[in-house]
Amino acid sequence: MITVLKRNATEEQRNNLIKWLEEQGVSVHVSVGESVTILGLVGDTSNIDMDMLRLLDIVDDVKRISESYKKSNRKFHPKDTVIEVPTKAGEAARVGGGNFAVIAGPCSVESEEQIVEVAKRVKAAGATMLRGGAFKPRTSPYAFQGMRAEGLELLSIAKRETGLPIVSEIMNENHLELFEDVDVIQVGARNMQNFELLKALGQTNKPILLKRGLANTLEELLMSAEYIMAGGNENVILCERGIRTFDHFTRNTLDLSAIPALHEMTHLPVIVDPSHSTGRADYVPTMSLAAAACGADGLMIEVHNNPSCALCDGAQSLTPDQFDEVMKKVMKVKEAVK
Ligand code: PEP
Ligand code: MN
Repeated sequence: MITVLKRNATEEQRNNLIKWLEEQGVSVHVSVGESVTILGLVGDTSNIDMDMLRLLDIVDDVKRISESYKKSNRKFHPKDTVIEVPTKAGEAARVGGGNFAVIAGPCSVESEEQIVEVAKRVKAAGATMLRGGAFKPRTSPYAFQGMRAEGLELLSIAKRETGLPIVSEIMNENHLELFEDVDVIQVGARNMQNFELLKALGQTNKPILLKRGLANTLEELLMSAEYIMAGGNENVILCERGIRTFDHFTRNTLDLSAIPALHEMTHLPVIVDPSHSTGRADYVPTMSLAAAACGADGLMIEVHNNPSCALCDGAQSLTPDQFDEVMKKVMKVKEAVK
């Protein structure tokens, strides 16, 4: 971290500041120039409040040189992380480092018949994991809230029938014991900064699918991943699911540039959710291809056996036949950009 002092800072003020900084546990390298004096702070600067420092009378500017996210930072871990999700067949579904994952299934689990049928169809089309919401974060308290614990049991049945690992969203750390059989725990966009939840997930050893918040920067996404990793769980998959912008034509705005940007910033795998980002089934195929072309490590796509009757997010859900088509094209794009 670098602190630039104002020209009128006296030597006494400067020394007082240096003393205080050293008390915070960093060593200070002083560089006195003709017009500016710069203090170079070396060591663990994570406890230093940049905004407070900037407000001091004698301080002109403060700049962080290295990022606050350490465990997820590619600088300290240049190789891509590959997340391994064990399958019933004893193999692993892998995400990252050249392993492309396709997580497909309905927005919400609605019945055994529905989830098992969708699971069979998406597996046949080449999906590597099954998704299904049991605890649903709905904007309205009057909307369908998910089948909760029963939904997770139905997902387990679909897992037994197909062998596909299952992915489901958690909203409260008190529900963790219900997620025993869930292979990848999803943290949805609305909970990306639920820090107590993130800390609790850091204590588990399950892969976590962390979705970007509706209005969060990439750095904030990585700081949330850092919460999970700092607790000891380094199995984090990031998901770009669209952000809120001024345009309402699509449900959100899919930030595809987040893919190369995150790949530069972090070693964690990054997947794309074209369903929640567009909100429209007719745009999901195109954006799936775009995501595959720009280097995403996978896709999360909503598929329903009867979208017009879906209890949640029918408008953005593909039919199994449409999903078949998308998968064929995605594989061609993957081949073309290899
Ligand atoms: C979901 O995947 O079911 C979901 C609610 O997504 P998001 O958190 O991205 O809105
Ligand atoms: Mn949904």
